[in-house]
Amino acid sequence: MIISMRSDSSDADILRVEEKLAAMDMQTHVSRGVKRTVIGVIGEDNGTTDHSILETLDGVEQVIPVTKPYKIVSRESHTENSVVNVSGVEIGGKTIQVIAGPCSVETQLQMDTAAEQVFAAGCRLMRGGAFKPRTNPYSFQGHGVKGLDMLRQGASRLRLPVVTELMDVRMLDTFLERGVDLIQIGTRNMQNFDLLKELGSIQTPVILKRGMSARITEWLMAAEYIAAGGNHNIIFCERGIRTYEDAYRNMLDVTAIAMLKKETHLPVIVDPSHAGGKAWMVPALSRAAVAAGADGLLIEMHPSPADAWCDADQALTPEQLAALMVELNGIAESLGRSV
Ligand code: PEP
Ligand code: MN
Repeated sequence: MIISMRSDSSDADILRVEEKLAAMDMQTHVSRGVKRTVIGVIGEDNGTTDHSILETLDGVEQVIPVTKPYKIVSRESHTENSVVNVSGVEIGGKTIQVIAGPCSVETQLQMDTAAEQVFAAGCRLMRGGAFKPRTNPYSFQGHGVKGLDMLRQGASRLRLPVVTELMDVRMLDTFLERGVDLIQIGTRNMQNFDLLKELGSIQTPVILKRGMSARITEWLMAAEYIAAGGNHNIIFCERGIRTYEDAYRNMLDVTAIAMLKKETHLPVIVDPSHAGGKAWMVPALSRAAVAAGADGLLIEMHPSPADAWCDADQALTPEQLAALMVELNGIAESLGRSV
């Protein structure tokens, strides 16, 4: 880090800062300018030093960290793209993976039908929510464990790995027993640190959705919680952020895709369904995501959107999903990838 001293700081102030850093096992290099003194700190901490302590010292103007607070997930620590293997399906490689399926698991027939349609469209992974984080406590909350079984049963016939949301750490063992292939952490839990720590102790891949108002650094730090525990199978999912605009559900932050691909070696996928919140927007947002470098998409599709119990207006029909897959392949090919 670099410590910039105020122009009116005294030699005694500078000495006190040096002593404080020495006590913290850090070496210093003092550069005295005509107007201002700058202290370079060598033996940079591992992100655990509370910089605000240094800012309380007399004469200190600003403490500027020069290393990133996130380590394992950063591209600095691993320059090559990481590929996450989800029960044999690779995310983060040349193939852009489209995960599709209903917002919520409703009936066995719905799941069986949806699995066939997801498979027929060419998708290699299936989604379905058994535990639903609903804004309204009186809305359908999902079938819970019964829903996990319905999802598993529908997807297994087509050998599709399943993606489903974990909200409560007490359900983790059940998820593992049921063989959930990819655990989704939703926007509302991105900074549920106890949940993230538990996910660090397993090896099941995790989709970490962006908190609806989360900054990029906060998102990376949340992933670092999982990685620090030993689970490096993390996939970021941009799902739109809350802004002043209310013409659509959320604003898809395409910029975040480019930013994340620079900052982390881990795969980045996009959920265009919860971003736009309308089925008609999904193709445009999906095209933008693939063009911007996303490694995958998480798309809501329902066998009959008009009958969906949850997020009916943003679900694609099976036909729309199949058509979108063809269209996305064209964009992917122009980038040397495929869908
Ligand atoms: C979902 O994918 O089902 C979901 C609830 O998404 P989000 O957490 O992004 O709102
Ligand atoms: Mn949904």
